Amino acid sequence: MLKKAIFAGSFDPITIGHSDIIQRALPLLDHIVIAIGTNSQKKYYFDLAQRLSFIETAFANEPRIEIATYTGLTVQFCRQIGANYLLRGLRTAADFEFERTIAQLNKQLAPDIETIFWCSLPQYSHISSTIVREVLANGGDISEFVPPALAAHFRLSDDQ
Ligand code: ADP
Repeated sequence: MLKKAIFAGSFDPITIGHSDIIQRALPLLDHIVIAIGTNSQKKYYFDLAQRLSFIETAFANEPRIEIATYTGLTVQFCRQIGANYLLRGLRTAADFEFERTIAQLNKQLAPDIETIFWCSLPQYSHISSTIVREVLANGGDISEFVPPALAAHFRLSDDQ
């Protein structure tokens, strides 16, 4: 059976923490779909087209990674596209508590879909899309917080 996983999030924007989890999971899986969950009630910093284009840039050379958008329940989207795994990253004990609840709920909703957790590397455990947006909004350089292929896009020039 094809091992197809979904890595779901808002990716506002994608960070090096996200891309590290994806890269490390790839050897165990056949296919990863980076799924941008969209919620019309939510305000995003980057619009959907920008978030998609950042992810495309970050994974331009990886044919086993696909990008998709969805609304509604993640497990329903898994079923729609034939994904059997949900990939999640754990940074802290708080992440674990949150993620465990979601994973147990998803298991009850969809017993055929397994959640797989990856611990973040220590050097990325403080990185979140929220802090990256905060740095950006205050004029800081976020190039070290995003996937390497995206760094040039965000690097501030020396004279700024
Ligand atoms: P959302 O924008 O929907 O809140 P997040 O970006 O917070 O989504 O999370 C999507 C997934 O990525 C979660 O499993 C989260 O734990 C994981 N994640 C986010 N940042 C990191 C990081 N720095 N290291 C490892 N995993 C991370």
